[in-house]
Parts: sequence; C-alpha cells; structure tokens
Amino acid sequence: MLRTIAISGVLAGEAAFGSLAAQQITEPPRLLDDIKFLTDDRLQGRATGSPGADSAAEYLARRFSEVGLQPAAGGWFQSFTLGRDAPATAPAAGALIGTHVIGILPGRDRVLRNQTVILGAHYDHLGLGGFGSLDPDSTGAVHNGADDNASGVSALIQVAARLAASPPARTVVFIAFSGEELGLVGSSYYVKQPIYPLTGTLAMVNLDMVGRLRNGRLIVYGVQSAKQFPALLDSLNWYAGFDLKAQGDGYGPSDQSSFYAAHRPVLHLFTDLHEDYHRSTDDWQKINLDGLKRVADFTLGLVTALANRRTPLTFMEAPPLLPNHASNPAPGSAGYGAYLGTVPDLTGSPGGVRLVGVRAGSPAEKAGLRGDDIITRIGGMETPDLEAMTDALRSHQPGDTVDIVVRRGTGLTTLRARLGTRGG
Ligand SMILES: [Zn+2]
Repeated sequence: MLRTIAISGVLAGEAAFGSLAAQQITEPPRLLDDIKFLTDDRLQGRATGSPGADSAAEYLARRFSEVGLQPAAGGWFQSFTLGRDAPATAPAAGALIGTHVIGILPGRDRVLRNQTVILGAHYDHLGLGGFGSLDPDSTGAVHNGADDNASGVSALIQVAARLAASPPARTVVFIAFSGEELGLVGSSYYVKQPIYPLTGTLAMVNLDMVGRLRNGRLIVYGVQSAKQFPALLDSLNWYAGFDLKAQGDGYGPSDQSSFYAAHRPVLHLFTDLHEDYHRSTDDWQKINLDGLKRVADFTLGLVTALANRRTPLTFMEAPPLLPNHASNPAPGSAGYGAYLGTVPDLTGSPGGVRLVGVRAGSPAEKAGLRGDDIITRIGGMETPDLEAMTDALRSHQPGDTVDIVVRRGTGLTTLRARLGTRGG
C-alpha cells in the first residue's frame, strides 16, 4: 500500500494527471504464467527465426491484446530478414526471419498522443546453445533464458496491463524485440524502419534481465543520455527504495544501444549478471518474483512519468572522447595505445567487430565509421574479435594514420583514420 500511495504522489508532482491508485491495487495478471510459457522447453530456447520463437511471438500478440493494447500501425508483427534487412552476424544467419511484436496504447492527450515513449524487451534467446552460449558443453541443451529475457517481457506485459487501465498523455509503444542475441540486429532494423517516427519518440526504456534482484540492487544504464534522467530516477527511487546504480551513457550490450545510436534518450533496467547468464541453467525457478514485481512497479512509474511530462527531454550525446570498452584500456594500464572511439557490440559478431556506434568527434567518426560497420582489419592486422582489435590499436601510436577495412552491407570498404589520444 505504501508504494501505491507514494508512486501516485510522484506522478502528481511530475504531471497533473489522475491517480494511479485503481490500477496499482489490481494484482498484476499472470506474471509467472508468462515466464513459464516463454521458458517452456517446447519453445526450444526461442532462437530468432525458429518455430519456438514464432510460437512466442503468437503468444505475445495474444497477451498484448488481452491486456488492452492495440496492434501497431501495420499490425502486431514487424518482420525482418537477417542478412538482407539486417547484417548477418551469426553463423547460421542468412535466411532467418525475425519478428518483433508491437502493441500500442494510444495517448489520451490530443496533442501529445502524436509523440511516443517506447518500452522494449527482447524475447529471443539462444535456442540450443552454441553461438552466444557461455557453456560449450551445453550445446544441444535448451537455453530457456528465463532471466534473459522472459523476465523483461513478462514485466513489460504487466506494465502494459496496468497502464491500459489509465493511459498517459503520450502514446506508449510496447515492443517485444527479436534478434537481440544475434547482435542487436532486430532493434537496429527497427530504428531504420520505425513504425512511429523516432523524432517523435521521447525516450526508449529497455527491460533486459530484470529477474534476479539481489539485495535490492537495480542498475539503470543510460542515465547520462538525457539531462533530466538523474533527477527523475532519484525521485522515483525515493519511494521505490532500490539500491539504485544509475550510470553510463546509452551504449551497452542490449537493444537500447540502437536507439541511442539514433540519438534518442534511453534507459536500460538490469538486475545484473549471474552465474546462469547465457547458460542452459537460466530457468524460471531461479527468478526472484517479488523482485521482478518491484522492477515492474518502478518501470510503470518511470514510463508514466515520461509519457506524461509536459516538456521534452534534453538528449545528451556521450562525452566525445570517453574511453570505450575495447579500443581504450584505462589510462595507466599496460600498453595504453591509440584512441579510435568506436562503440563495439559486446555481444560479439563472427568475422569481425561489429559497431553499434561511434563517439561524437572521435577519430572513428571523422574516418566515416558508423554503426553496423563490421571492422575486419586495422592497419594490416586482422580483427576477428575485440581482443584482436585492442591489440591492433595498441600496436599504434596516437597520431598514426591507419587503414581500417569494414564490412558494410555486402561489400568491403577501406577507410582511413588518424588515431588520437583519449581526452585530446
Ligand atoms: Zn542475452
């Protein structure tokens, strides 16, 4: 009860829309049922393009409808073909068709309803292991992906159900993404073919791995992607009482990266890694159901606040010359080398290092590198993976000019970059 009253209080302060009390006291429907359905062995781990993933998509469209969402313009499903619409980054990619499930809750403000807030969660997982699995011995075993990411999808449905009882001012677009585990290819496709214009998209909130809350610790990435986010999260958490770790820009190994690369403010809610991550042991029995409900409550408050706020958010680009994961070891670490400023896809991509974006003003940007490029060679050294790319950069000095070979679409392109130093 306390949380109910408190969240309504936040919203009263954030925007002058009605109380959420009625929807708060309704017990969220079927949270665990949704997780159990998605993680049943019958769905075979929901690999993008598999019959199990198609069953999941059908189920999700039905659930979206049941909880009061409407199909997006064009219907519940948006499909893309790997290798044609989206870069093929997985060994088996080429003829796979991925399908997003998209439902909307039309906004109730006559003007603001033309703008959207996106709540996303990917429903695909690793199938029978192999590519993407951290457990080579488990190839052939169903990877059910309960935390990754049946947790996020079930929380998304719960938020949809409760928001439908009292729609906010802006239109909320709920997207169950496919193609995440193959390297964010599904969300990359969406930002190129958005159903609703990205210019009218206030923010994208991503739920990925939110089912293992421990010690109340909730991580929110992307807080630096909009000027208003720190204060907003603080005020919401004052009532929610998480040990909240709000940090970072909008780049990270999940779908929010695609939206951030398209210059939208993003947030990624996350209850951290665990020993079952990307293994066949990520099962529903290990979900912290109470914790998941708390995250869903928090997300409901967050999406409501965003969808009701009167003023736009101020997008903040990542600081231009921040170090990034691969090409820049921490200052002072051994072999600190030249700076390129790429943002690699940390989920990995065979045959090279796929980028989700480049830092503003960086040597990478000046050289013409961009998101979706797959770097295969730097200065004559092959770069099959992040480690090799780091080595290639370490072998150069700031100021060096290097040729960078990238796979872009179906062709190879050579770009020339003048490497810099971090912070200069
Ligand atoms: Zn994953």
